[in-house]
Amino acid sequence: MSKVRVRYAPSPTGYLHIGGARSALFNYLYAKRHKGDFILRIEDTDIERNIEGAEQSQIEDLQWLGIFADESPNKPNKRYAPYRQSEKLDVYVKYAKQLVEAGYAYYCYCSEEELEQRKQADLAKGIASPQYNQKCLHLSEEEIEAYKKAGRVPTIRLQMPDNDEITFTDLVRGEVSFNTKDIGDWVLIKSNGIATYNFAVVIDDHFMDISHVLRGEEHLSNTPKQIQLYKNFNWQQPKFGHMTIIVNETGKKLSKRDQNILQFMSQYRELGYLPEAIFNFILLLGWSPGGEEEIFTMDEAIEIFTLERLSRSPSTFDPGKLMWMNSYYIKNLSDEDYLAFIKPFVTKALGEGFEDDYYLMVANIFKNDIKYGHEIVDLITPVIKPNQIRNKEHLNLLASEGAQNVIKAFKKLLAKAPDLENETIKVIFNKVKDETGEKGKTLYQPVRLALTSETSGLEMVSVFKILGKEVALERLEKALKV
Ligand code: GLU
Repeated sequence: MSKVRVRYAPSPTGYLHIGGARSALFNYLYAKRHKGDFILRIEDTDIERNIEGAEQSQIEDLQWLGIFADESPNKPNKRYAPYRQSEKLDVYVKYAKQLVEAGYAYYCYCSEEELEQRKQADLAKGIASPQYNQKCLHLSEEEIEAYKKAGRVPTIRLQMPDNDEITFTDLVRGEVSFNTKDIGDWVLIKSNGIATYNFAVVIDDHFMDISHVLRGEEHLSNTPKQIQLYKNFNWQQPKFGHMTIIVNETGKKLSKRDQNILQFMSQYRELGYLPEAIFNFILLLGWSPGGEEEIFTMDEAIEIFTLERLSRSPSTFDPGKLMWMNSYYIKNLSDEDYLAFIKPFVTKALGEGFEDDYYLMVANIFKNDIKYGHEIVDLITPVIKPNQIRNKEHLNLLASEGAQNVIKAFKKLLAKAPDLENETIKVIFNKVKDETGEKGKTLYQPVRLALTSETSGLEMVSVFKILGKEVALERLEKALKV
């Protein structure tokens, strides 16, 4: 078998999406499993749709996930460069002209308006998927001259065989067939001189020695067009495999516009998801290891990844499972890794400038419970920044004689406390209970309200640990003056 060379070929029209990340990952795993090359190619011929910064952010997000390209625009292999389609537009034109000379393609002078009019007329006649009517297939010299004189710039169109069955064995779904009469003659080079996706992709896959094309199901119907080109050029075809769609929990195809599910890597990064968790989650999105085990590292996945275990049915994106996975990985971080991961979030909540020990101590309170890093901000903020505008009910409660007695007694004992451990706080509450005769709600609520301005929330011991003795005493003192 020749060397495995696979590619992830994003169009820089947006940021790294969960579907793109999956394509990249499965290609990467397949390459690494077979000691092959994983190539990143930028398909940027649809110039109006390109987004500034998209290429760089895609690369960074892939690296964050642990996916590193062997070849890319930033790491070119001279033999195959360039890796951006926009940098080799002349190459596509050259090969399209070759097809014209060989009689497989022809210049088409039909204008957009004419094509659209014909399409609408066909649709009105009840033709479900109208094809190009081959008007320009046999133009006379005079007709061509007339078009040229009128300033028409032609496209180059591929002539598909009339009624041919194009069959291939898809690595995921087995034998797939398309009839060429359902495809029609299609454009290789647009009138602006830029190659279409289906043409450029074949030229690149061929000259980059791509052995396997693994991509999303949305490209399945493009494959016969691409295969026709391999036939015309008499080039060896790569193997094709199309991964099934990703659906939401109601079974609907995940749409990039669906706001209910976060779909971009950057969103997960910002929220405090660990790359290991996202990687692991994506790994199981359309691929199964065949056993009960669900937790895998990248190296383990490389060891066991096979195309045979790619799923044939749609894969469901389950956000709950992703959160579970992330919390699993968070729980298992060492202190050092946990601090590195959580510090931006815990700093956001507590403020800058504290010792790492303090950040870690506070973050450890939540380590077993949080599902993602940013959650810690929402949990700590009400404690650290109490809402000073207390409502009337809370003010009355705090001002009551019973509450004031509790706070006074508590403050005195806290000032002498050796530490803020669970046991110590418990002992203080018990003593306050004995001294004041208050119990249950009337014992705990005043202290909590004095410290956090809330009547419920985190465990009291956590509140003390977060605030520290000094701040807790200050807040109790303040509550004595309401
Ligand atoms: N540029 C295409 C896309 O982003 C790649 C398709 C392919 O892998 O052939 O969908």
